[in-house]
Amino acid sequence: MEQTPLRTTSPQHQEVLEKYQSKLYEITKAIHEAESFVKVLPYIEHEILSLLKAERMTVYQKGRHDNEIVSKYKTGKDINEIRVPLSPSSIAGFVALSQQPVRIDNVYDKQALARIHPQLRFDYSFAQRAGFNTRSMVVVPIKFKETLLGVLQIINKIDAPHFTDLDLKVALEVASVIGHKFQYDFQATQGPYDFLLHRKLLTAEQLEEIKKKSAKTGASIPYLLMTELKLSPEEVGESLERYYQVPFLKYDPDIQVPQDLIKNLNKNYLKSHLWVPVSYQQERVTILLDDPNNFNRIMEIQQVLNARSYEFRVGIKEDILKFLGEGVTTVQESGGEANLSELIGKLESEIATDEEMELSDATINENEATIVQLVNRLIVDATKLNASDIHIEPSRGKEPAIVRMRIDGECREMLKIPATHIRAVIARIKIMSRLDIAERRKPQDGKISAKFQGKNIELRVATIPTVHGESAVLRVLAAGEKALPFDKLNFSERNEREVKRLISHPHGIFLVVGPTGSGKTTTLHAILGHINSPGVKIWTAEDPVEITQPGLQQVQVQPGIGFDFAAAMRAFLRADPDIILIGEMRDRETSHIGIEASLTGHLVFSTLHTNSAPETVTRLLGLELDPMDFADALLGILAQRLLRTLCPDCKQPYTPPPQEIEQLRHMYGQPRERFEEMLRSLGTITMYRAKEGGCDRCGRSGYRGRTGIHELLVATPDMKKLIAKNATIAEIRDLAIKEGMTTLMQDGIWKVLKGQSDLYQLRKVVAE
Ligand SMILES: [Zn+2]
Repeated sequence: MEQTPLRTTSPQHQEVLEKYQSKLYEITKAIHEAESFVKVLPYIEHEILSLLKAERMTVYQKGRHDNEIVSKYKTGKDINEIRVPLSPSSIAGFVALSQQPVRIDNVYDKQALARIHPQLRFDYSFAQRAGFNTRSMVVVPIKFKETLLGVLQIINKIDAPHFTDLDLKVALEVASVIGHKFQYDFQATQGPYDFLLHRKLLTAEQLEEIKKKSAKTGASIPYLLMTELKLSPEEVGESLERYYQVPFLKYDPDIQVPQDLIKNLNKNYLKSHLWVPVSYQQERVTILLDDPNNFNRIMEIQQVLNARSYEFRVGIKEDILKFLGEGVTTVQESGGEANLSELIGKLESEIATDEEMELSDATINENEATIVQLVNRLIVDATKLNASDIHIEPSRGKEPAIVRMRIDGECREMLKIPATHIRAVIARIKIMSRLDIAERRKPQDGKISAKFQGKNIELRVATIPTVHGESAVLRVLAAGEKALPFDKLNFSERNEREVKRLISHPHGIFLVVGPTGSGKTTTLHAILGHINSPGVKIWTAEDPVEITQPGLQQVQVQPGIGFDFAAAMRAFLRADPDIILIGEMRDRETSHIGIEASLTGHLVFSTLHTNSAPETVTRLLGLELDPMDFADALLGILAQRLLRTLCPDCKQPYTPPPQEIEQLRHMYGQPRERFEEMLRSLGTITMYRAKEGGCDRCGRSGYRGRTGIHELLVATPDMKKLIAKNATIAEIRDLAIKEGMTTLMQDGIWKVLKGQSDLYQLRKVVAE
């Protein structure tokens, strides 16, 4: 037994010191002679309380599968068991987490607690339940070597306001003796591989061999135990669990590393420090690391992540790297620098070997490194190219599968995947989106959360069985994408002015309409971004949530469990909203609640799948809305389309011949004078056309990006009257135009004349 002599600087304490010294000697002697901890505890408790003049003592034990410490032995009978998580949310929990001894002179002095750790709290709830008034304490870890076994807590100095440093030293000494003597009472082993030695699964000589090999190759000892000695991960895991006192976790491709948590961390830092968060729920984070006894690292993790509570798992180095490297969600690193054609080249060389083995295509599995890289690369490329969808389409027999991406609304063939590998590629996608790989006959839907260059990407995955095998469509949702600034919406001057005026109303309903993929969500979020301020409460119900904004309460509807738009709307109305965005008014119920909400003092935004602003009115009235109510509630309707824009790098200017202007005049229609005014305002007209063969920046297409074209119907008093009396689409349209509305075609012609796009693209999105 090693016993550090107690020292003090003040000689007047010499007498006290001697008393402490001799008492401590008695206590440690008794501990060493004891059969078990339980038997000697009453004695220890009595002696400590009388020596330190303390009110009560608690010993917490940390169990192997516990992420908390549990009070095993304590003075008083008030509460049967105290469970404390390993976190700064309580003092004992903090000591268990940090393995640092602390002396707290006043548990209510928040500033003093914060000096120890910014999040350190005294758990009042416990004090209340116990009906016990805690004032001061010393709390020390009970350790065996570097393993935490428990915590010793001594509460309330009786004859003084607080404990002294000498008291703390005594507590530390007693804790150290307890740790050494009763490590087995606290269920620990002495080394990470002791349990394997004990079970005779491993000899000391073998372990020495493995250690040498580990030092030479850099492979971890547990990894070598599994690969060289063929021990199972469960056997090795149990031995690690017994030593480190935390559960073992092996690599599991289904576990998604919470990207949000590590987005600001350098991957190389995590790789060299060998830790990775494996789950994050309700501010409770679970960390996998190879050495949970390294409390410096644990304190560092806390500083970096700043979660409310922590759980730890012990794992092997190789698995941690797998989570970090080619983990399901990290597209970034594992894609490497290889491009798609190089990867296909690699696949093809793999096929060559496979053919020698005959019928071996069945053995190409979804974990093959190249397959993993290929799928990652597809996702990365789709993101870089701003693609909205990736289509993976199997072909007949031995024909290669085709991968196409939809970019700016048009599908482009990107590459071919050898028929031998398509199943593995689809399987890999299914694993990433947590679908059933064995199920190949039914369509399935899932989601992939990934991260690329610091940006979160979400893909909605649909697999559909075809006659040639499974196909997959990945829709890029770009999760967490920022809202577009309002002034980037490319509104005409009148539209911008009017939209700003309409959305400044405190209540009413504003609708954005158009087919799927017409940019309705982008526009609505730009609008919300414009009016979002700390003074207003904004709720949104969306399907899916594609753009997130700080300050908004955004909800993903789940019609599958009955939480549809109508249900979300009802929930919002109970949650004190100012502004509500309801993803879509697709049914009678949602539209009725929407109108009602806008009539009762809320500003409501929504969308409809209608082609034009005037048509929207009759569509909604068809859902049995009361025309008077609707007219009363309506602020405005914005119809829109997305128009492909000419590549600014290679578009070619030309002066349009008179017949082209004449054609535009004809397409523009009424009122004529507005067209003439537009021509006058432009002066000399220079139009642009796409360059044949484009340039590198636009993928050789001559077009790059898209912009909105708009048709804004304003619910003026005259318009409201017209709507209230159930007018026809034509009547509504005529009045709207008379009042200044430009149609989608007219707004598009303006943008063509300004050189942003061309007639060819305009004709594709708007019917004449
Ligand atoms: Zn170009």
